[in-house]
Amino acid sequence: MRRVAVVGGGPGGLYAARLLRLADPHAEVTVHEQGLPETTFGFGVALGARTQRNLEDADRDSLRDILAASHPHDMSMRVGDDVARVPGGRLVAIARTELLAVLTRHAEKAGVDLRYGERVDARDLDADVVVVADGVNSATRTALAPELGERVEVGRGLYLWAGTGFALDEAVFAPARTPHGTFVAHAYPYAPDRSTFLVEVDQDTWRRAGFDATTVATAPEDSDEEALGYLTDAFAGHLGGHRLIGNRTRWLRFRTVTCDRWSHGRLVLLGDAAHTAHYSVGSGTKLAMEDAIALCAALTAEDDRDRAFARYQAERKPAVTRMQQIARRSQWWWDSFPARTHLPVDQLTVAYMTRAGNVSLERFAASSPEVTRRGLAQYADVAPQEVDLAAPVPWTVARPHRDLPGRLVDRTSFAEGALVEVDAVPDDPWGPAADALVRRVSRDGRTAWVTGAVDRAGLLTRLDVAERLRLRGQRVVTEGPPELLPDLAAGLAAGRTDLIALGGNP
Ligand SMILES: Cc1cc2nc3c(=O)[nH]c(=O)nc-3n(C[C@H](O)[C@H](O)[C@H](O)COP(=O)(O)OP(=O)(O)OC[C@H]3O[C@@H](n4cnc5c(N)ncnc54)[C@H](O)[C@@H]3O)c2cc1C
Repeated sequence: MRRVAVVGGGPGGLYAARLLRLADPHAEVTVHEQGLPETTFGFGVALGARTQRNLEDADRDSLRDILAASHPHDMSMRVGDDVARVPGGRLVAIARTELLAVLTRHAEKAGVDLRYGERVDARDLDADVVVVADGVNSATRTALAPELGERVEVGRGLYLWAGTGFALDEAVFAPARTPHGTFVAHAYPYAPDRSTFLVEVDQDTWRRAGFDATTVATAPEDSDEEALGYLTDAFAGHLGGHRLIGNRTRWLRFRTVTCDRWSHGRLVLLGDAAHTAHYSVGSGTKLAMEDAIALCAALTAEDDRDRAFARYQAERKPAVTRMQQIARRSQWWWDSFPARTHLPVDQLTVAYMTRAGNVSLERFAASSPEVTRRGLAQYADVAPQEVDLAAPVPWTVARPHRDLPGRLVDRTSFAEGALVEVDAVPDDPWGPAADALVRRVSRDGRTAWVTGAVDRAGLLTRLDVAERLRLRGQRVVTEGPPELLPDLAAGLAAGRTDLIALGGNP
């Protein structure tokens, strides 16, 4: 593997190129990037504590420079005048342009040959290994779709990636109600004078606001100025007199990319070219750079190219798939966010943190005790000092509900005929089959007993459907296996289910 060609000078391609040269200073490594260095676009990207540890292990020097150009931030959920704050820990954000500048410098220092302004076809490149890091719109992946087993799933909602010319004090999640419907901001500072300001919206609201027309009328190299003006007004309370700034900003639908195989012959994919995960888990850059680490390790460990590619995929794919599953649940939660803004803000923050099954009540209680305490107090309608933060799961489960002494019930807790059984929950809890189920069951009006398979994915999906029923005013019991009691308790605290039961179909 003497000659390596890299297609794409994004974070994944540049980092892979540097690591490959560091691992083998005799290798010829060339990066082909279609853009020019100063024409890259985008706002900030976030890097969490675990990613930073991985980058430190792989290459301490570049991480030092990345951190020097980064901006730490805490997080806040804001609904109207109510705010819940969560410490960000080691979470930082960096301008995409800065990140690329640091990675370019380090790639050059390692002896990588960087060629800008060259759009190339990966299949034409003369090299032993071609690293395909050409991003979410990868022409290579499209050309080899059947060989790679490509699937692309298009999101139901729309998002727009904008920025501001000032640094927010902290990351902000906030809805804005307009006559057309609710828009939701995910915003965070990434430089002393800049913030990313991403806005998302459901399709019906987007249409009512006339954005189907403005999207069509916006040329690819322009920004949707009408949308930016509208959203500047809608989010004025968060912008302190500043305007939203565009940078080829337009409404898009998120595309989740998966591939069964990440390599074909000499070609090996990494980053967004191989897979994407919804922006609400802030992991696209992380995954691309961690792919680069794993690919370099595999190419170093194996003499044979095919074995190296197989090792890389075997090593990385489980972690990427897990992140995509978390991202999918997070995407569903944000798509339906406006339906939850009636929740008190601390309870809403507990719901946010536990939305994808990645953070347990215990973990959140340990990292953010005050928000968890207030959120659980709001759930149980008691004073915050009554919450037992040392044992949030049993405490949550033991809270009374109407005439019942606790939230854990069995069928004998109900009179004969008082329950309607829901036992065939579709895999997509917000898709058309689930819509029909929710309509049918909520017409029935009796307490819904939502049961199904005992696996964790099945339970998390049931909690989504339970929440939908609850949002229509129905009382819901969600059934799950005893070992998943922490998930059931998080479902209670997040307002997804009124009651829980132990059991399910093996
Ligand atoms: C709205 C939004 C918010 C996001 N927020 C975050 C966040 O908070 N944190 C985070 O970690 N990630 C975030 N991301 C994701 C992140 O931007 C990407 O996941 C990340 O940049 C992927 O890196 P990559 O190297 O795989 O691809 P890219 O960064 O897309 O780079 C691909 C490069 O390949 C070049 N290229 C393409 N085709 C060719 C060709 N044929 N020849 C030569 N060059 C070519 C392109 O010009 C580009 O420079 C967000 C993404 C979106 C859409």
